[in-house]
Amino acid sequence: MSAAASRNNKSASLVPLNDRTVIDALRLSQDYLSGTTRSLKKFQRSRSLKIATEAFIIVAAAWVYVAPPSPNWVEAHYSRTLYPRVQRSLTSLSNRFPFALCDALVLLLAIGLIWWWLSRLKAAGRGRRLRTTGPLTFHTLALAGLALILFQIVWGLNYSRVPLIEKLDYDTARVTDQSISDIAKSCVTRLNASSSEVHSAPWPDLDRWSQLLEPSFESVVSDLGVAGGIVPGRIKHSLSNPYLAASGIEGFIDPYGLESILNNKILPVEQPFAMAHEWAHLAGFADESEANFIALLTCLRSTDANVQYAGWLALYPELPATAVHGDQPGNELRLDPRVVADLEDIYRQREKYIRPWVNAAQWRFYDRFLKANHVQAGVASYGLFLRLLAGTRFGVNWAPAMRTST
Ligand SMILES: [Zn+2]
Repeated sequence: MSAAASRNNKSASLVPLNDRTVIDALRLSQDYLSGTTRSLKKFQRSRSLKIATEAFIIVAAAWVYVAPPSPNWVEAHYSRTLYPRVQRSLTSLSNRFPFALCDALVLLLAIGLIWWWLSRLKAAGRGRRLRTTGPLTFHTLALAGLALILFQIVWGLNYSRVPLIEKLDYDTARVTDQSISDIAKSCVTRLNASSSEVHSAPWPDLDRWSQLLEPSFESVVSDLGVAGGIVPGRIKHSLSNPYLAASGIEGFIDPYGLESILNNKILPVEQPFAMAHEWAHLAGFADESEANFIALLTCLRSTDANVQYAGWLALYPELPATAVHGDQPGNELRLDPRVVADLEDIYRQREKYIRPWVNAAQWRFYDRFLKANHVQAGVASYGLFLRLLAGTRFGVNWAPAMRTST
């Protein structure tokens, strides 16, 4: 600073403040203070509103999960009305992407959450980090609650719908050793009869399977009351495929993007049944036995021999040993060696990829998930599939008869 500038500053600081200047300064500081107080109050109001909203989301999520609406309400106001419209819109959108949107969503969420936690803990500074984890956990719970509410709205409420067994012309009295034995005989006879034809050319690829499955799938879900049909999901693979293969999961649907994901290690002959199973979930049939039932009918009602064969082949391992092997030696049903070779290929493929501890952990988890979603049979609901098949009355070409009241 030069000497002249220093002199000027001194003379400026010595100018006496008159009353007007003091009053203006006081007014300014008063305005500033009241403005700050207003901002503070506004900030506190918005903070309280945010906490109240988050608390509401957590309570609402718990309530929706613990006390879902009644099956009749879900059937009338969700599964047959709102859900099909949501499905057609969301699946049409997700079908435009060649990759699994659920992978992108999971990655984004995981990276976003980790980044958010780390940046907030860093900003809190030493000594305050432990106290910051409380609000962070609360915000994370609210986010999880929001995800749960969204899950229920987009797809999850289908777990609470009226079971298919109550809508079909189903009678437990039809489920007898004889009826199961008749199904086993049909299964083996049809597998053997079409064996030459289906093994004379390579299996279709995924796109071709989709084209072949669509007509019969549409007719099955239409018979089961899905008015207007659904948009079949484009078959995609996921980054989680190593886990799917190790745990023996053939596929799943993404409940947010309503996409169909298939394990890319299952054999081509297994694909049609697995695809139709996932599409059945997309059609709002959340129960595993119902999805299997729809997948089988889709395959059996197809006009294509390959698709029919794939359906019977998927049914065969579900049949009880007594029905397949007969009640005494010599009565067992004999499979064509090419059918046996297909079953062995499937078995070997599973042996190759399934890791028993991952498989056991996955099924324990899924059993708990199903029971938490009010499917009391848990993974055992898969066994109901055969009972549905034996106990339902069918019309021409496996058209299931419905109860007259539905
Ligand atoms: Zn399933």
